[in-house]
Amino acid sequence: MSSTRVLVLNSGSSSLKYQLLDMADSARLAVGLVERIGEETSRLKHTPLTGDGAERERTGPIADHEAALKAVAAELAADGLGLDSPELAAIGHRVVHGGLKFTEPTVIDDAVLAEIERLVPVAPLHNPANITGIRTARALRPDLPQVAVFDTAFHTTMPEAAARYAIDVATADQHRVRRYGFHGTSHAYVSRTTAELLGKAPEDVNVIVLHLGNGASASAVRGGRCVDTSMGLTPLEGLVMGTRSGDLDPAVIFHLARVGGLSIDEIDTLLNKKSGLIGLCGDNDMREIRRRVDEGDEQARLAFDIYIHRLKKYIGAYYAVLGRVDAIAFTAGVGENAAPVRAAAVAGLEELGLAVDGELNAVRGDEPRLISPGYARVKVAVVPTDEELEIASQTYALVGRHEERLRRMGN
Ligand code: AMP
Repeated sequence: MSSTRVLVLNSGSSSLKYQLLDMADSARLAVGLVERIGEETSRLKHTPLTGDGAERERTGPIADHEAALKAVAAELAADGLGLDSPELAAIGHRVVHGGLKFTEPTVIDDAVLAEIERLVPVAPLHNPANITGIRTARALRPDLPQVAVFDTAFHTTMPEAAARYAIDVATADQHRVRRYGFHGTSHAYVSRTTAELLGKAPEDVNVIVLHLGNGASASAVRGGRCVDTSMGLTPLEGLVMGTRSGDLDPAVIFHLARVGGLSIDEIDTLLNKKSGLIGLCGDNDMREIRRRVDEGDEQARLAFDIYIHRLKKYIGAYYAVLGRVDAIAFTAGVGENAAPVRAAAVAGLEELGLAVDGELNAVRGDEPRLISPGYARVKVAVVPTDEELEIASQTYALVGRHEERLRRMGN
């Protein structure tokens, strides 16, 4: 392909994050973010990474996603990176929920878009924003291949035993209730990169990936394929997160409704937005929590301990699921930066072959690295995730195959 650029779009309900990459050398050409779309105080931050690379910021009302993408296009054009450039090969969209249907990145046509819309009932918070982003980008460049890269796709290899909840099968199937998992592009990228770090092929390596950001999820990856993950029907299940509770007895919900008098929407907000670390101690930023812990704050200490306890339970569970573990990889904002979290999560697990070297753990860096001592049977890795690069790579590879197929069909 002579066109080697890919624009990656990640559309939220009131935001649009983007990166323009050149897949000839995986270089980032520009990155940016439009926030508070639809408000008076919208803000566009754009950083060209060619030339002087100075960040530009614009504030003022941006009415909707269409206006946001047009504003982004204008910024890119000002850097000579316009969306009308023949060098742009494709646009890659992050789509949160691909259900069972989308096991791979997919070139978007009307039928694919209709299927993503059909999934809105299982992803009411996320898919509508993704759909808006896709529609807007297609309107702007109808001739350009647009690819959907699904957060759920990497987890579609989970066996039924891991993916099904133990509830009535007919009811579950009727309402598409099962465990889908999220953060898939990150789990895919990090498990593959961990194998590379060990100097092995992904097929030969079993990895537990701990994606610890504001949202957090764990996955068990056997030979490059996901066999279990901690998020379920929605991103609420599993680990303690910044604002989400993660696992709890489902009867807590009945109790809060019947005894506490809370509505379903109030409980939804409580568990998704006001629980996890912020619910436990009023802060969801691990830096602030560690600062408070170091000052002797008991509430922050308890929040930290609950966070670590849950993390350990998942490490143990996935160790058992995999049988043999070659490496545990920490990633995302907390996993990449919070040495105390990594040390505490692995503390006391020497019998499982797990250990962290204090000095290696304290080193900061942007590169994938091992933090376990040489003797550790199970390696512990820190692998900075790069979801945009993964979306761009998958988009670019798919568009290459797609064009090849079209060429062959034409001959
Ligand atoms: P993410 O969702 O991957 O962007 O991660 C965001 C979270 O990472 C923040 O809420 C912080 O809790 C955490 N984080 C970022 N930098 C640090 C740091 N230096 N130390 C501890 N936690 C951090």
